[in-house]
Amino acid sequence: MIKAVTGTKDILPEDITRWKYLEQRVEKIMQSFGFREIRTPVFEETALFARGIGEATDIVSKEMYTFNDKGGTSLTLKPEMTASVVRAYIEHSLGAKQPLNKLYYISPMFRQERPQAGRLRQFHQFGAESLGGTSPSLDAEMIIIAYDILSSFDLKNLTVKINSLGVPESRNNYKNILKEFLQDKVNGLTEESRKRFQTNILRIFDSKEEPDQLIMKDAPLLIDKLDQESKDHFEQVRALLDIAGIPYEIDAKLVRGLDYYTKTTFEIVSGSVGSQNALCGGGRYDLLIEQLGGKPAPGVGFAAGIERILLACENENTLMVPQEKPDIYIIRIDKELNREVFDVALNLRRKGLAVEFDYLDRSVKAQMREANKVNAGYVIFIGGDEYRNNEFVFKNMLKGTQEIFKLNEINEIHHKLKEEANASEKT
Ligand code: AMP
Repeated sequence: MIKAVTGTKDILPEDITRWKYLEQRVEKIMQSFGFREIRTPVFEETALFARGIGEATDIVSKEMYTFNDKGGTSLTLKPEMTASVVRAYIEHSLGAKQPLNKLYYISPMFRQERPQAGRLRQFHQFGAESLGGTSPSLDAEMIIIAYDILSSFDLKNLTVKINSLGVPESRNNYKNILKEFLQDKVNGLTEESRKRFQTNILRIFDSKEEPDQLIMKDAPLLIDKLDQESKDHFEQVRALLDIAGIPYEIDAKLVRGLDYYTKTTFEIVSGSVGSQNALCGGGRYDLLIEQLGGKPAPGVGFAAGIERILLACENENTLMVPQEKPDIYIIRIDKELNREVFDVALNLRRKGLAVEFDYLDRSVKAQMREANKVNAGYVIFIGGDEYRNNEFVFKNMLKGTQEIFKLNEINEIHHKLKEEANASEKT
């Protein structure tokens, strides 16, 4: 039997209601902050990610799904969205059309990582990018949007971590200071960190291995060596988070995996999901647009992992979204009334109601069981004595009450549903 590829997951109908609820919430909050949706292709030229994310990052060096198409072009399934959004921003001259572009997305991403709880090879992110402004309000709003979305799902176990990586000059100076500090300690580091010492020294802070952490706990910190401009910017972001009532902690070791960050970086972690605990992360990238060939413009953004958020919700017993249910289930009492049932269902469906009936020739009892199982709001019975009297029975499943109407009123029954919905809204 052929199964889904390792690290990929089917999202079955019973899961979809939660996904949709989450997506609608994301859309609503993004729109209230003035963000507009962008969709980009699932694959891009490999060079975009190599240049945009950085050759030395884990993503580019070992996790990308890269292949040559029949024309010999190297393509990659997108491992993250920022590079793609920036590519589209440059390609369509969005910066010339308006000075500040606030964009959001919901999209699948692909990374060939070792699958484990909360880590997939095809996963989904929502996120946002503000392109064109350096204002600390834009940084703060990224954190606020992410936090507001997560809190709107009643997630409790959240920690917001923020840091500043400064501008390239202060970061490069700091890298030399860190190099000097580590020079005589390199041999004590794990193999992975020894590699990072050569290629991406800041990432050694990301290591969860004990020997690395033991050495790094005394390392000088970038936040203490920041340039004045970055320091001021960071202070302003913090002040705005205070206004917004966002609880945060400063994590001077938060360097994040990607090369393109400048100044603010942040992550929101959950205590409810095990070792892969980052629900979202992001930061400012004032040089990326230029690096990818655009007219210099600053940017800031974040991405959040939908599967991980849903896992946190599951573990905290939140986001209990009711399953979708039909408005009406039509029960066919007499077998020969197939066409009548088909016709009524079609008419009501075309009026916008969700209508179900039996396709499997089941007994009246079995149809009733099904109507209960799918949680139908109302049941229409077609057949029996009532049908012979040109009538039908209409049952309110919640109240357990029933009424009899004339058959020629059946296609207008949606008015009745509306009336009852209005009445119950008033009470
Ligand atoms: P990143 O783009 O690496 O900063 O990731 C942003 C968010 O996407 C993370 O905080 C996770 O919630 C989610 N994420 C990243 N990689 C994976 C993965 N392999 N599987 C599931 N979620 C992921």
